[in-house]
Amino acid sequence: MQKADYDPEIFMSIAGTEEMTVDMIRYLYDYVDTPTLASIASAITEDISGNRVSFVSNLILNYTNVCNVRCNFCAFYRTGSEQDSYTFTIDRVIEEIEKYYDRFGITQLLIQGGVNPSLDLDYYLSLFRRIKTEFPRIGINGLSTSEISFIAKKAKISVEDLLRQLKDAGLETVPGAGAEMFDADVRKMLGRPKGSDSEWLGVMEIAHRMGIRTTATMMFGHVENSYHRADHLYRLLTLQRKYHGFLSFTPWNFEPGKTRLERDGLVTRRSGGDAVVRNIAISRIAFGHEIPVIQSSWLTNGIQMGQITVCSGANDWGGTIYDEKVIPATGKDVGNLRKETIIQALKDIGKVPVERDNLYRTVKVY
Ligand code: SF4
Repeated sequence: MQKADYDPEIFMSIAGTEEMTVDMIRYLYDYVDTPTLASIASAITEDISGNRVSFVSNLILNYTNVCNVRCNFCAFYRTGSEQDSYTFTIDRVIEEIEKYYDRFGITQLLIQGGVNPSLDLDYYLSLFRRIKTEFPRIGINGLSTSEISFIAKKAKISVEDLLRQLKDAGLETVPGAGAEMFDADVRKMLGRPKGSDSEWLGVMEIAHRMGIRTTATMMFGHVENSYHRADHLYRLLTLQRKYHGFLSFTPWNFEPGKTRLERDGLVTRRSGGDAVVRNIAISRIAFGHEIPVIQSSWLTNGIQMGQITVCSGANDWGGTIYDEKVIPATGKDVGNLRKETIIQALKDIGKVPVERDNLYRTVKVY
């Protein structure tokens, strides 16, 4: 592939179509400058959602930090013997939600933790039922594909059976965590188990076939190159064309603090603002209208970067944050983010803030 093989302008017309290839996405990464990418991506986004940018009143609940997978890029997990290992009882989960539910009008609960071998299917079913009974407005966005695969194996049932039971108990959507980067060599360096790329895509495909909507993610800024990123986006686009089950896509940059990758000297700093903007813009150009929502990863990059990304192809801010535990484990303090702050940040740059629910339906336009 050579520079000038493609005119950047043609990407406007082929965004998200069958004409989009891994090579073309890689071309965007390798040869097209950031302002051009941001301008093409913004034009596509404007066609999809105009000047509106959505956000959700979300609560993140990390119910356990005990995990037997032990990824090299994760500072959150504990083996279970450390003093700060924890697993919430169902009563404790309810107490946590109660603190925020009415006060902040929570409509989405992102619930995920480690792959904890001491928890069985009954825990999750009882947990989801209790949450739905006590907090009926909440849409449960629950469990990573790793947690889902492990719970199914432990219960000796298929992923499809498990998802059906979880759905009956109150699961609404499955979050896209754990996708990281699909390439097998990269995953090996990240310490993800062999085959976890097809496991992620397989669980998502089963969910989509059953009508359970999910989201998708990509973690960049570690040991990957432009081919790996292009391949990752292309695999997501290919699955999306089959069932249209992904509600949104979020690219987020790796936080190396306190991880094994940092200790081993493989990644010593996080990628900067230019990489954040490029990944937002390129994902919008790759997906076009096929994945209508591209979410800004403001959580690790701050409010100002959030404002820049919604001017570069993103049309969703993500959610409010109260007491999230995964990012602070890397040593980075993300604080809390209330909805009033998001609304003001969007109004300041001339965007129309739209509060949405877990299924991306409009709750209120501000
Ligand atoms: S990223 Fe998830 S699966 Fe991997 S060690 Fe951390 S909690 Fe466990």
